[in-house]
Amino acid sequence: MLNKKSIQEIDVESRKVLLRVDFNVPLDENGAITDDRRIREALPTIRYLREHNAKVVLMSHLGRPKGKFNIKYSLKPVAERLSEKLGAEVRLAGDVIGESVLEMVDSLKEGDVMLLENVRFYEEEEKNDKEFSRKLASLGDIYVNDAFGTAHRAHATTAGIAEFLPSAVGFLIKKELDIMGKALTAPERPFVAILGGAKVSDKIGVIENLLDKVDTLLIGGGMSYTFFKAMGYEIGKSILEADKVELAGKILKKAETKGVKLLLPVDTTVAAEFSNEAPLKTVPAAMIPKDQMGMDIGENTSRIFAEIVKNAKTVVWNGPMGVFEMPNFAKGTLALAKAMSECTGTTIIGGGDSAAAIEQMGFADKMTHISTGGGASLKFLEGKVLPGIDAIDDK
Ligand code: AMP
Repeated sequence: MLNKKSIQEIDVESRKVLLRVDFNVPLDENGAITDDRRIREALPTIRYLREHNAKVVLMSHLGRPKGKFNIKYSLKPVAERLSEKLGAEVRLAGDVIGESVLEMVDSLKEGDVMLLENVRFYEEEEKNDKEFSRKLASLGDIYVNDAFGTAHRAHATTAGIAEFLPSAVGFLIKKELDIMGKALTAPERPFVAILGGAKVSDKIGVIENLLDKVDTLLIGGGMSYTFFKAMGYEIGKSILEADKVELAGKILKKAETKGVKLLLPVDTTVAAEFSNEAPLKTVPAAMIPKDQMGMDIGENTSRIFAEIVKNAKTVVWNGPMGVFEMPNFAKGTLALAKAMSECTGTTIIGGGDSAAAIEQMGFADKMTHISTGGGASLKFLEGKVLPGIDAIDDK
């Protein structure tokens, strides 16, 4: 999966390039864009194509219109914002396929950019319908995928279309493959993974895959209490996945057999209520009072984890160390974010909530790489094949 052609390895001069991007931006109740990060992230690939005289036809989904036209999910605000960012008009097609779209594509000059309407206005998109892919493919000469966030889905514009055209990945996906791909196949060591977040069940695939690769696995956040239960600790009212206790026990054994250091918190900050205002205290991990719940890793744990992270050559982090949305229980996550920023090795944030936490805490520009996908990053860390990348031509 790592050996894919990139846009720099194909000739795009004067060609019509169908570029799948992820413009699934958040909108407020008036339809205004509240965060245009995804548009900004797509700019390097779009600019490259313009500079190399391609005719650019952009494709994206927005929200879940369920296979029908719905003005609420029109890409109009995106076309406007993108025009501003590029300093050039980006015309929005009134449809995804059909005569009017063909005409607009045919009128493109070299360096021009247009945007198809929301591809999910057709139910064929998510069904990965072959005929729909063929019609889309007839609009262009080359297909480029740069939508990492949807690369774990086999839809028409993320995978199906590649069957009919020469293809390549854009800069965003290339960076994911170069950095995350390298960490997973040939990491500089020590290689440390930090996993947190609410549930063990969401991360089992990641834990199992990483146990074969890392030197040290640090586990914090809500999922650590299921491990504590497996170790016979009292966990009070802490979040627990009772049906995963046995599995947690097996993972602990597996780590031991493989010689991977698996570290759990040595102390934990507890409160009687799931509230930022609840009085808190820090207790040893094995001594959580019956009427309290674990909300964050304690200071000793933060110190131990931070030291390991700072000395790593490769670190991958997915999932917060505590209920970081509440300032009183964000300290562990903050300490780890700071340690990552001080690490001189390769630092990778595996998408989702930890990416949000890192941005919110102001450490984003100190990381080697923040993955742009939530679900896609997890699948990648699980070692799974991503259909949107698999479909692209090999070098
Ligand atoms: P995830 O989406 O799996 O990365 O989980 C992120 C969520 O886990 C965040 O909303 C955190 O508030 C939550 N979380 C982290 N630690 C705990 C904890 N000790 N108890 C309950 N929820 C937690």
